[in-house]
Amino acid sequence: MIKTISAIILFGLIIYTQVRKMLAKRGGEEMRCASCGRLVVERPVKKEMDGKELVFCCEHCAAAYTKKE
Ligand SMILES: [Zn+2]
Repeated sequence: MIKTISAIILFGLIIYTQVRKMLAKRGGEEMRCASCGRLVVERPVKKEMDGKELVFCCEHCAAAYTKKE
């Protein structure tokens, strides 16, 4: 009985994480900072360079990248 219950709970947890992963993937494409490579989750800093739009995680990264170029 206890084995069955824990199996159901484990199964539910696996389904839950899979669904969350799927939802996260669907909700907007993944954006990575062009300077440090970190995943940009909220409020991306966008800069246009040579006609290309680059996304940064913060103003600091954008400034560092602009200096480097
Ligand atoms: Zn960054």
